[in-house]
Amino acid sequence: MRTTASILHLDLDAFFAAVEQRDKPSLRGKPVIVGGTGGRGVVSTASYEARKYGVGSAMSGREARARCPHAAFLSGRFHAYRATSKEVMRVLRDLSPLVEPLSLDEAFVDLAAAGLPDLDVATVSEVGEQLRERVHEVTGGLTATVGIASSKFLAKVASELDKPDGMTVVPPGTELDLLRPMNVTVIPGVGPATTERLRRAGIHTIAELELVSQEELVRLLGQAHGAGLWHLARAQDHRPVLPERETKSISVEGTYDTDLTDRRLMEGLLTRQAREVGTRMRKNGYSGRTVTIKVRLYDFTTLSRSSTLPSPTDDGGTIGRVARSLLGDLDTTGGVRLLGVGVSGLADWVQEDLFGEEPDDDGADEVVLPEPPRRTWPPGADVVHDEMGAGWVWGSGSGVVTVRFETAETGPGPVRSYKADDPALHRYEPPADD
Ligand SMILES: [Mg+2]
Repeated sequence: MRTTASILHLDLDAFFAAVEQRDKPSLRGKPVIVGGTGGRGVVSTASYEARKYGVGSAMSGREARARCPHAAFLSGRFHAYRATSKEVMRVLRDLSPLVEPLSLDEAFVDLAAAGLPDLDVATVSEVGEQLRERVHEVTGGLTATVGIASSKFLAKVASELDKPDGMTVVPPGTELDLLRPMNVTVIPGVGPATTERLRRAGIHTIAELELVSQEELVRLLGQAHGAGLWHLARAQDHRPVLPERETKSISVEGTYDTDLTDRRLMEGLLTRQAREVGTRMRKNGYSGRTVTIKVRLYDFTTLSRSSTLPSPTDDGGTIGRVARSLLGDLDTTGGVRLLGVGVSGLADWVQEDLFGEEPDDDGADEVVLPEPPRRTWPPGADVVHDEMGAGWVWGSGSGVVTVRFETAETGPGPVRSYKADDPALHRYEPPADD
């Protein structure tokens, strides 16, 4: 255990919903639910106003509607979330070079690398408060909750304690006092199955877990998990903050207007992207060993899977085969809105076999995207009207789309309805850039 509270965990509060409330003034202070708009969708984020009605992440849209029928259900605007996240991560990197993002709205920061005069509780508390203020400024009013402690585990536990818009600092030496009364479910990796096994062994709290021998835990949960829990129950967590490394990679990705559900189509798209990656690699004289696919699901969950080849390649056919097999391991039944292929671990290495293999017939030429419904108006989407300016889709149906004309900079704005094919009305979505 570190002897100072030098690990900071920052978590933006109800992030997606908070960005929507920032950009849609008429929704401030009201229940907002991002996700769960379609028949099969689940809730991605609920604002705190909606949480009061028992709506939470991963709940089905139907359930959320039953609990909070008057909430604004929005389909989500990833471009806005990503842009806001970038600003926050920049603030964190201004503080310390050691920043480890966990998702768009969460990161660890190693304050030991921040060049502070000392790491006393008073000093890190001051840093935490300044950071929260700075985040509030750069995001146009979003709030973050911060936990500061001597390890990643404790910092993350601490950031859950005073949500939203709060901060908890765990003074070194008091970690176990904090942990002991807590339920074992606060330990990362303790999901429903593990909780149930522990419960059957009469273990509910961390204090109870601490009394169990390592051998017993290994017997109950297996070697890796059992030993890991034994250490965490003692607040022993030495994991370092690992900054995102600049990996040399070449990747191609696409976002789609309609959620893709057809597996053959997805494979075809990956195949085509893999070819393009191969072409770019050859043009730059690169080859690489690690093939990664990126898949963003309809609810914004982003998954990636990698596989490392025995030797470097720049062949699109090979990259495509690996990419398709990686896709095979993922559950994409709910629909996919982004697909990408990349190769990393690049070497400035010119392939000796300049002639390569004959390209095999992998079907990439037959890929035809379903004609994107050019005029779809998902709830919450950004639009621009030639005369009225910027607004968002309030609702649509029966050939009519209703728009609320307001932005983060305006007050609550007027509502107008148009024909869904009105040429003066346009969807607005900046191109993806990551
Ligand atoms: Mg969060």
